[in-house]
Amino acid sequence: MSTFRAPKGTFDLIPPDSAAFLRVREVMAQTVRLAGYQYVETPAFEDTTLFKRGVGESTDIVNKEMYTFTTQGGDSVTLRPEGTASVLRAVLQANLEKAGQLPVKLYYSGSYYRYERPQKGRYRHFSQVGAEALGAQDPQLDAELIILAVDAYRALGLKNVRLLLNTLGDATCRPVYRAALQDYLRALDLDEATRARIELNPLRVLDDKRAEVQAQLTDAPRIVDYLCEDCKAYHDEVRGLLTAAGVAFTDDPKLVRGLDYYTRTTFEFVHDGLGSQSAVGGGGRYDGLSELLGGPSLPSVGWALGVDRTVLAMEAEGVLERDVPRVDVFAVPLNDEARTLFFGVITELRRRGVSADTVFGGRGLKGAMKAADRSGARYALVAGERDLAENVVQLKDLASGEQSPVAVDQIIPTIKEKLS
Ligand code: ATP
Ligand code: MG
Repeated sequence: MSTFRAPKGTFDLIPPDSAAFLRVREVMAQTVRLAGYQYVETPAFEDTTLFKRGVGESTDIVNKEMYTFTTQGGDSVTLRPEGTASVLRAVLQANLEKAGQLPVKLYYSGSYYRYERPQKGRYRHFSQVGAEALGAQDPQLDAELIILAVDAYRALGLKNVRLLLNTLGDATCRPVYRAALQDYLRALDLDEATRARIELNPLRVLDDKRAEVQAQLTDAPRIVDYLCEDCKAYHDEVRGLLTAAGVAFTDDPKLVRGLDYYTRTTFEFVHDGLGSQSAVGGGGRYDGLSELLGGPSLPSVGWALGVDRTVLAMEAEGVLERDVPRVDVFAVPLNDEARTLFFGVITELRRRGVSADTVFGGRGLKGAMKAADRSGARYALVAGERDLAENVVQLKDLASGEQSPVAVDQIIPTIKEKLS
């Protein structure tokens, strides 16, 4: 062990657990690719102003959680705390919204950074897969994204992810609701910081985690009672589409999300096996964000799923596959001639799409067999002087222990056949 440790609130992804993380990312990505979402990758840092504006000055993320620093050149940059602002910035910069058909459908997968109080499921460096559909206002698009997230969780074997659904209204009805909520909140017994929040971002007060605050919110006005006709019809259609697709949801009138730019559909995926860090993913519609960043009107919807918490949820449900085999075939040469032969064999196996490995650095037979077992391989190839004299190698099934000779020129086809 060296004297260095990973920074507080971060952890390394190392085998064997790293395979599960990779798989979660891949299943999420594969699920949205099926719906035509294409990969986008943006820098890990951006101009600080992008997040201040795009995430919102009144949010916890901007107020408390950003990693902001001044570069050697005197610019203020921030490690990305989330993906949406960067993706939209990239789309506007490349004029993607003008180049082709709308919506532009994009997905991303990567690291995000927030200066948080580290605890289980809450880290300073974490990983998200996100999907965004930019440039269309259509309830089917909101439903599509929600269904895709549900399908991704299902594909990972999760059964207990719950969907919470709400709408935040739009520029027509939200201000009326906001004012009514402010009136209600101002009459409550709240601390200084929360009072300030009432004026800046009153919807966020609904999201307050403290029991003494929640107790006072039971009779708070609900957005559903203030929706304009368009927003109500839109929300009803999203709900209908989800139901038709067999997606269960719970209406949560207090679900507001931390970000200022959300309009209409808003949703969160929660898992009850995770303690207080129960949100495994979330998203919603952000029709106003593009204009906020100086772009054209570009109504959009998206989500971000937390990879780390999804892995924890899989662990909680007992569906996390541990000890994923490293390779299918492991070669154990007993002399130099076999070593040369097997080097060629494993090269060829890999070229044919079969994962294979061998020992390096001159381990003895015992060490080599141990390495074969540890690799999780289904088959070991073993050969020594006597085998090679007969032009065969031994093919050993590592689960059953069964072993049989295979002619040297039949090694590849035999293994391909057994693995198929
Ligand atoms: P929370 O209320 O738990 O702070 P959030 O609303 O800040 O979550 P989002 O910004 O919506 O989270 O991010 C989407 C998902 O990313 C979350 O649902 C969660 O799974 C994950 N996530 C967010 N922050 C962290 C973190 N610090 N560590 C690990 N995962 C995180
Ligand atoms: Mg947060």
